[in-house]
Amino acid sequence: MRAHIDVNERDIGKLALEYEDRPPQDVLRWMVERFGSQAAICTSFQADGMAILDMAWRIDPSIRVFTIDTGRLPQETYALLDQVREKYDIAIETYFPETMQVENLVRQHGVNLFYRDSQLRLLCCQARKVQPLKRVLSTLDAWVTGLRREQSSTRATVQKIEIDQEHGGLIKVNPLANWTEQQVWDYIREHDVPYHSYYDQGYTSIGCAPCTRPTAPGEDPRAGRWWWEIGVDKECGMHCTIESGRFVREFEAELNRNGGGI
Ligand code: SF4
Repeated sequence: MRAHIDVNERDIGKLALEYEDRPPQDVLRWMVERFGSQAAICTSFQADGMAILDMAWRIDPSIRVFTIDTGRLPQETYALLDQVREKYDIAIETYFPETMQVENLVRQHGVNLFYRDSQLRLLCCQARKVQPLKRVLSTLDAWVTGLRREQSSTRATVQKIEIDQEHGGLIKVNPLANWTEQQVWDYIREHDVPYHSYYDQGYTSIGCAPCTRPTAPGEDPRAGRWWWEIGVDKECGMHCTIESGRFVREFEAELNRNGGGI
């Protein structure tokens, strides 16, 4: 259950400024000292998340780590998850979508609905990613992400410490906000951090198996995500509100009517 977080926009803004030029480890240390077990790292086992996990574990080996298993992840992600469990000796808290939501989604729209329409894609992301994320965030005071400003225009204004108003006002910590991709990989190599095998096959961003493919040299790093969608934000709704259409609004209305299980 979320504890009372006594923070306001002004204080967090000041903290974000204070930590802007400090290394990610300082931000993580502040978070661990401030929130303890009420904070957790969210990772999908991409390079950024792996660097953060390694940094945080060196500060506090009991740091909580969670992931969302959408049910459509590539086998290689599960292999890395096991590798991480073993190397760091930590439990990875794994959260799944609500069974009934996915069953209804597939019954109504098919298992590969995302290829047909961007609104159906967002609907799938809602059920498989956003709803389980909301469930875990409702129990936390702070969460950590691997968001970096250079990843996309939708992430260009990310602060190292901010209030996550979209998820009820908990603290969102983005220690790598001002890091480059090169800095992430330098850290991974220097500290022998395990990384996803897809990076060696040309992937630059990794998510669900049917929605991710390698990128060509020079292509936008997130171009391999939902590559068939042109001219839309390459986001799933976990990190920012996306203008949603009829399907998603109906889905959310249904959730509200049935208390979570459509
Ligand atoms: S990335 Fe693809 S499979 Fe995964 S939740 Fe989103 S639409 Fe569904």
